Amino acid sequence: MAEDCIFCKIANGVIKTELVYEDDLVAAFKDLHPIAPVHVLIVPKTHIPSVNDADAANQAALGRLFLAARAVAEKFSVAAGGYRIIINNNADAGQEVDHLHVHLLGGRRLGPMLAK
Ligand code: AMP
Ligand code: ZN
Repeated sequence: MAEDCIFCKIANGVIKTELVYEDDLVAAFKDLHPIAPVHVLIVPKTHIPSVNDADAANQAALGRLFLAARAVAEKFSVAAGGYRIIINNNADAGQEVDHLHVHLLGGRRLGPMLAK
């Protein structure tokens, strides 16, 4: 756990937040500023700043993010209708929190993948 990392604190129960999914490796919680009816962040419990920092030691947690995404999509009833998962990495992608996180977005037509 990194000392001053908000997502480390949320994922490890230091800051009390409703977790919509949790297992031994990852946790998920609702985004504070949702941009879709369903907007959940799924994070590893260990501090990995971005995909650039991921290595073989993180392989189990990285794989688990996808299984958690599947569970979250089913829990929020967007699995069949469709949803998008996004990971922003570094400045050009607009990453604001330097703890790797998967955005799971759904509940409406999401439009094109990127604004042009
Ligand atoms: P990114 O731009 O990919 O780094 O996304 C960071 C996301 O974290 C944004 O969508 C924020 O709304 C969200 N966020 C920041 N702080 C919190 C928090 N304490 N709880 C939930 N979501 C947060
Ligand atoms: Zn962290």
